[in-house]
Amino acid sequence: MSDLPSRDLLIVGAGFSGLYMLHLARGLGLSARVLEAGDGVGGTWYWNRYPGARCDVESMQYSYQFSDELQQEWEWTERYASQPEILRYLNHVADRFGLRRDIQFNARVRAAEFDEARDHWVVSTEAGQQLTARFLVMATGCLSATNIPDFPGLGSFGGPTFHTGRWPHEPVDFTGQRVGIIGTGSSGVQSIPVIARQARELLVFQRTATWTVPAQNRPLSAEEQQAVKADYAGFRQRISLMNAAIGSAFPEDGNGVERLALDADPADRARIYEERWQHGGLPFIWAFTDLYTDLQANETAAEFTRGKIREIVKDPGVAKRLTPTNVMGCKRLCVDTGYYATFNRDNVHLVDVSESPIEEITPRGLRAGGREYALDCMIFATGFDAMTGSLTRIDIRGRGGQSLAEAWAEGPRAYLGLGVAGFPNLFLVTGPGSPSVLTNMVVAIEQNVEWIADCLEYLSRNDKQRIEATTQAQEGWEIGRASCRERV
Ligand code: NAP
Repeated sequence: MSDLPSRDLLIVGAGFSGLYMLHLARGLGLSARVLEAGDGVGGTWYWNRYPGARCDVESMQYSYQFSDELQQEWEWTERYASQPEILRYLNHVADRFGLRRDIQFNARVRAAEFDEARDHWVVSTEAGQQLTARFLVMATGCLSATNIPDFPGLGSFGGPTFHTGRWPHEPVDFTGQRVGIIGTGSSGVQSIPVIARQARELLVFQRTATWTVPAQNRPLSAEEQQAVKADYAGFRQRISLMNAAIGSAFPEDGNGVERLALDADPADRARIYEERWQHGGLPFIWAFTDLYTDLQANETAAEFTRGKIREIVKDPGVAKRLTPTNVMGCKRLCVDTGYYATFNRDNVHLVDVSESPIEEITPRGLRAGGREYALDCMIFATGFDAMTGSLTRIDIRGRGGQSLAEAWAEGPRAYLGLGVAGFPNLFLVTGPGSPSVLTNMVVAIEQNVEWIADCLEYLSRNDKQRIEATTQAQEGWEIGRASCRERV
């Protein structure tokens, strides 16, 4: 193998991160190639095609801001964009910036090894192809490696099975079927109301009840879009100062002033929660600044929501089982369309598997609490090996042949979530320890990709071949994050 790598940069993944990384790398005059496992662009929005899939951040915000022409010309049709619309948008981006010619599809990366003598990465695909590059950017997404629990008998079921994160490209018809769905996180909460309208019967296997607030989704009018587009830069700037870089129609959410739930008059508090419930979406949990920091304050929002569940769900027993007992917002809130009301349908049955877990998958269905539930098909809405799975499932080896999985055996460590000690010239986009899924992902991605591009530009300008996070910097970042958590 020659001493020189075949290109400056290899990027793994053609979702929001990989596409923008390629665009910026080209702008720097770097030679770059994207390796993408799927046969199209889109990443998360390519794979997650389950019924009802939609973003929980509003469409005018869940989009790139690096090109004003792009944000001016693209028209969103709904307040919260559906998966097909976001996928269309990303295809448009790929075409508009001519990105496809540097993307290799159907190329799943199997391994990547740093060649210390030559200061470059050697990347191997599952098809046996080998490529080299000075730098490697893992734009593999935080939620790409699917999780299917290791139930005994898995694989014995006679009917079709689906995972929400690997949904078929063709529409799936549940008409006349008795469908079982396991999992009530965001993917379950979004798909359950839609599947319930088609299936003969839907059995929802719930281990932990979920806090969810209504999206209040609706078509987006031309006037609303125009109002944002008249000053898109100002809109983005205001949002960047708000909670989690997610904009809210409530200006007080970004003004830095403390508003304590426990100080509020109970009638005012109820009015504020009601107003936010009717408005819809994640700003519900920002109604007061102590909801994330004071359990008693949090309880006021939880009790309001419990009241809503009791009001919406007609059967008190079902309402009780649907009511979460954990802290509201501790796990990112779900944003739904008709979730709780779906359980009023005669064809929907909630099966609580919290105390009598799923014991096994059988040829006819599944067994939980000693009872077998016969099913025609089974859906796993059981989430992902989040944050690290998409990285550690690839055999990434840095200095001294150490694998990333070994380096992270005690938990992931990364400087800014972007670089890992022992892994020179490797960059992670929205890696563990970065804000990533706790924020508006597109904002987090753009910020990370721009950081990497600045770094690459610096290295190239200064004729440097290698960069690596020091252990000290990495630990410093972790200690800083831990002390932030303590202060909160
Ligand atoms: P998830 O939030 O991890 O939910 C997985 C569900 O599967 C949970 O209800 C979990 O129960 C259940 N489960 C796992 N193992 C189980 C077992 N052995 N038996 C019974 N139930 C089991 O996954 P997700 O819904 O796919 O969401 C993943 C991430 O993607 C979240 O961060 C979410 O915010 C994001 N997401 C966002 C959107 C959006 O923008 N709208 C849409 C979808 C997903 P337990 O809770 O008891 O573990």
